[in-house]
Amino acid sequence: MPPEMWQCPKCAREFTRKNQRHACGTGDSADVLRGRPEAVIEVYRAIESVINNLGKVETVARDRYVLFRSRRIFVDLSIMQDAVRVAIHLGRQIDNPAFIKIVADGKQVTHVAKITSLAELKHIEPLIKEAWQFSLT
Ligand SMILES: [Zn+2]
Repeated sequence: MPPEMWQCPKCAREFTRKNQRHACGTGDSADVLRGRPEAVIEVYRAIESVINNLGKVETVARDRYVLFRSRRIFVDLSIMQDAVRVAIHLGRQIDNPAFIKIVADGKQVTHVAKITSLAELKHIEPLIKEAWQFSLT
C-alpha cells in the first residue's frame, strides 16, 4: 500500500484518510450467508472469487451487507432472500439492461443489479474489474 495510507491502531485496517471513522474489524461473511439458499451462496462465492483474484482487497461483512475495498469501496453487496444485490462503483455510466438502478454521485457512478445466477454474473464480471481499477485511481 502507498505510504499515505493510515492504519487503525485497533483493528489494523488501512484507510486513505487519517482517523477515518469506521466500525473496527471486518466481520465474517459466513454470518452474512447463514440460512441463504444454495443459489445465493453460489453467486456470492463466485463474486468473492473474482474479486480476490484482482489483488489486495479488503472484505467487510456486516449484517446482510458485504463490501469490498482497495483504496476505497468499489463493490458492495446486499444478500437478499433470492438474489445478491450488487452495487458497482464506476467512473462512467454503462448502458446495460442488467442494471435496475444507476446513481451518479460526483465522479462516481453506482450501478445496481440483482444477480440470481452465475450466468447473470458473467455479464457484469468485467465491470467488477473496471470498478476495482477505478478505485485505485
Ligand atoms: Zn479500526
